[in-house]
Amino acid sequence: MYRIRLFATRHSRSFEWLYQRFEAVMVALDPLFEKIGYNRVERPVALIERGVKGLLFDCKMCGQCVLSSTGMSCPMNCPKELRNGPCGGVREGGFCEVKPLMRCVWVQAWDGASQMRGRDRILQVLPPVDRRLKGSSAWLRASREKAIALRAHRIAGLDADRLALANAFPQARQIEPTSAPLAPEPPRAQGKSDQ
Ligand code: SF4
Repeated sequence: MYRIRLFATRHSRSFEWLYQRFEAVMVALDPLFEKIGYNRVERPVALIERGVKGLLFDCKMCGQCVLSSTGMSCPMNCPKELRNGPCGGVREGGFCEVKPLMRCVWVQAWDGASQMRGRDRILQVLPPVDRRLKGSSAWLRASREKAIALRAHRIAGLDADRLALANAFPQARQIEPTSAPLAPEPPRAQGKSDQ
C-alpha cells in the first residue's frame, strides 16, 4: 500500500483530473441520491470509498478529505496527524521522525501539490479534524454540498433574471403582471410534485 501511496503523489496531476471528473458524476447523481435518500446511500458509498481510497492513499476515512489540497498525500498517515504542514522533526532525505522508513507525508504532499493545477491550495490553512465525521463518506458530503450550492446559484440566477425582466417592462407589468412575473414558480411548473 505504501508504494501505491507514493505512486499517487507522483501522479497527483492525473488523480486531480480524475477526481474532478468523478466529482462531476457524483454531483450529477444528486437527484437520484435525493430520491433514494442520502442516509440510505451513505453506507454503501462509504464502503466503496474506504476500499478505493484505502488502496490508493492509505485513507483513514476521516470524513473530511483534503487530498486535493495536500498533493494527494493523506495527512492522516502522519503519525501526529498534522493537517497543516510537517512538524520540526523531518529527517534528512525527507523521512519521518517517528517512522524513519516512511517519507514524511508533508514532504510527499509538497511534491504532489507542485504538480497540480491547484498547487496553491496547499498554502491554505485547514481546519482541525472533526472526529464526529470519522467513517463517513467525504465523497458524498462534498458532492452533496456542491449540488446544493449549484441549486441555490441557479435559483438565485432565476430570481435575478425575473427581476431584470420585471424592471425592464414596468408598464407592461402594470397592465399585465404575468407578462413579467415576479412571483416564484409553483413546484408543478418546475416539474416537481407539490406535496
Ligand atoms: S484526508 Fe481523510 S478522507 Fe482523505 S484520504 Fe486522508 S483519511 Fe481519507
